[in-house]
Amino acid sequence: MQSARLALSILQNRFRLTPRPLWCTFLVLYRCNARCPMCDSWRLKPGRELNPEQVRSVFRKLGPLQVVRLTGGEPFLRQDFPELAESVMQESRPRVLHVTTNGSFPDRIQNFAAEFPQPRKLQILVSLDGLEEEHDRSRGPDVTYATAMDSILQLLPLRKYGVSVAVNHTISSPRSLHDHAELASRLLPLNVTLHAVIAYAESAMYTIKRVGTQASDLIMQSGYPLHPNLSVCDVAGFVRQRISDCEKLPKLAERIAKRYYWTGLLSRLNNESPPKLKPPCTALRSHIRLLPDGSVPVCQFNTQTVGNLFEQSLDDVWFSDTARNQRAWVDRCTGCWAECEVVPSALYSADFLVQLAAGKLNSTPAAAQDYQ
Ligand code: SF4
Ligand code: SF4
Repeated sequence: MQSARLALSILQNRFRLTPRPLWCTFLVLYRCNARCPMCDSWRLKPGRELNPEQVRSVFRKLGPLQVVRLTGGEPFLRQDFPELAESVMQESRPRVLHVTTNGSFPDRIQNFAAEFPQPRKLQILVSLDGLEEEHDRSRGPDVTYATAMDSILQLLPLRKYGVSVAVNHTISSPRSLHDHAELASRLLPLNVTLHAVIAYAESAMYTIKRVGTQASDLIMQSGYPLHPNLSVCDVAGFVRQRISDCEKLPKLAERIAKRYYWTGLLSRLNNESPPKLKPPCTALRSHIRLLPDGSVPVCQFNTQTVGNLFEQSLDDVWFSDTARNQRAWVDRCTGCWAECEVVPSALYSADFLVQLAAGKLNSTPAAAQDYQ
C-alpha cells in the first residue's frame, strides 16, 4: 500500500498533477531558546500554536502520511510536545517521525524517546554548530555543546529499542567548518551518524524580513546563496570530501540521499549551468509544510500561505485558486538546494533513482575530482 501510494505520487509529480501530501514538515513553534545568528526563529512573534487536540484535527484532515518532520524553533520548549507527537502518530501513522532539536533539554528528550510507543519509527536529530567554543558562541548561553552532548548520550541506550539518533552539523562559519573533522572523530566511537549542512545566506522561513514573502533572489538557476561567513572557506573542497565519505553511511537509502545532496551542492558551488541535478519540485504536492498555527506556506523560500488547515478542509486549501497559482510559481521556479526541500522532491519524483541509473551519483573520490 505504501509503495503503491509512493508510485502514484511519483507519477503525479512527474506529470505536474496534484497529489495528496505524503511528507509533512511541521514547525510546531517558532520560539527558541537558542540565539543562532543565522536564524531569526527566536526573534519572530510566536503567534498561535495549535494544541495537541487541534494538531489532531489537522492531521486527521491530512490522513495517512509516510514521513512527518517535527521541527521549530525548539520543539522541546513545548511541555505538550509528547501529546502533540502522539496526535500526529495516531492520525497519520507515518513510517518515520523525525524530530529536530537543539538538544538543550536532555531529560525531556530522553523521556519523550523512552515513552514513545513506536520507537522504530522515531528519528531524533540533534543540531550542533561545532565543538564547545564555536557551538556555545553561536547558540548562546542556554543551548550549550555540553547539554546537546548530554542529550545524545542519554538517547544512546534507547537505540536497542529502535530509536535512531544522529547529529546535524550546521556549518555557518570558518571555525564551524574547521571543527567538522574533530566532531566526526568524537562521534565515531559512539557510532552516531554525523550529517552536515552548509548554511545559506537567508530563507523566507527563518529570516525575519523575508517571512511571508517569495525570496526569489535566493533561488538561482546556478550557484548557491552561501552564508557570507563562508565566503573565505574552501566549501567545495569540504563537499568533495563529503561525497567520498558517503560510502561510510550505514544505510543504502541514506547513502544515495546524501550523495545526491552533496553532488547537487557541488555542482551549484561550481556555478554549473544548468546544475547537474534539479529534481521536479514537490512543494505543495507530495510535500506539505505547516506553520505553528496550521497555515500552509509554499516552501522554505516562499512563505506566502495558501490557506490554513486548522480552519479549512484539506480540499479547500489544496485545490484553492491561491494554491493553484502558487503551484504555477513552483513550476516556474529555477530550483533551490535546501536539503529539507531537495530530499522530498528527489524521493517523490524518483529523481534519486533516475540520476543513479544515469550514473550522475558516482561517489568515488575520482568522480568528485571531476569537479575540481
Ligand atoms: S537554528 Fe535552530 S536552534 Fe538556532 S535559533 Fe533557529 S531554530 Fe533555534
Ligand atoms: S525548488 Fe521548490 S522548494 Fe525550492 S525554492 Fe523552488 S519552489 Fe521552493
